[in-house]
Amino acid sequence: MANIVHSQSNNPNEKVVLVIHGGAGTILKKNMSPEKEEAYTAKLEEALRAGYNKLNSGSSSIEAVQAAINIMEDSPLFNAGKGAVYTNAETQEMDASIMNGADKQAGAVGGVSTIKNPIDAAVAVMNQSEHVMLTGQGAEAFAEKAGVELVDPSYFKSDVRMRQLKRVQDKEKAILDHDGDRGEVNSSEEEFNIDFIEDRKFGTVGAVALDKNGNLAAGTSTGGMTNKRYNRVGDSPIIGAGTYADNQCCGVSCTGHGEYFIRNVVAYDVCALMNYKQLSTAEAAAEAIEKQTALGGSGGLIALDAEGNVAMPFNTAGMYRGYITESGEIFIGIYGD
Ligand code: ASP
Repeated sequence: MANIVHSQSNNPNEKVVLVIHGGAGTILKKNMSPEKEEAYTAKLEEALRAGYNKLNSGSSSIEAVQAAINIMEDSPLFNAGKGAVYTNAETQEMDASIMNGADKQAGAVGGVSTIKNPIDAAVAVMNQSEHVMLTGQGAEAFAEKAGVELVDPSYFKSDVRMRQLKRVQDKEKAILDHDGDRGEVNSSEEEFNIDFIEDRKFGTVGAVALDKNGNLAAGTSTGGMTNKRYNRVGDSPIIGAGTYADNQCCGVSCTGHGEYFIRNVVAYDVCALMNYKQLSTAEAAAEAIEKQTALGGSGGLIALDAEGNVAMPFNTAGMYRGYITESGEIFIGIYGD
């Protein structure tokens, strides 16, 4: 049984082969019950082991990323697949992307509602089409043809997520109701922001893997943001913003307020900082998140390079995250320092 370290150590002594995240946000120990903490830890561990088993049996980094993400997509704990949040219209619209660091092939889907595991559809787009991104019903029709599992949208129904949507919608109404009274607006605005971000807790999932051939792959899957409308799409399916992989630098998967990750092209920025400024993976990842903070965007990222160096910076209170090393040593972290 591998040792599970609940420390904040970003510096393992040996090569990391798989790193995952389950979203960043207002994740505070004081709001977490021991049962909830245990459930998240167990699911993150299961995802790490699923990916690790793939890598150990000689599968590619793409297959390892897919296996790890599938576990989190099938869990209601995360905002991806089964746990996807609701749109303003009480539907679920999911986004996912994958990139292969060996040849920079990539695939993505946006705004899909009937694909059980959106990351599988992203892989199919990469492997079985000449495109990089497909959206909506077209993506679903393609996925069906490609043999990806489809489900009735009712599969994604969730009372918890519906309550979350109602809370966010009520608060939006409340803030408008106070419009015009500066004093009131200021205090309720602050409260609103805290609760709003809390409810929009960025539960996206992602993984970056390094296989036995030295190839990197990165993937991200999400339900996006609660109460989104107008077919809003975030950073997660956008190659370069939410996901990027290149064996020459590293693989990256992001989570957080997507609009800011798109504007700073965060996943690619980590690679660019490594290439142009000769920064290490950890330095580049930290600088990319500092730029997010400067722009006003909250979130975090995971990065892994071909030497097995890992980085997991975030500017939120916490980020569900973990990695597994070559020998099977597991680290899982939830909170900040
Ligand atoms: N980045 C995602 C989005 O904006 C949300 C998340 O990371 O949870 O759609």
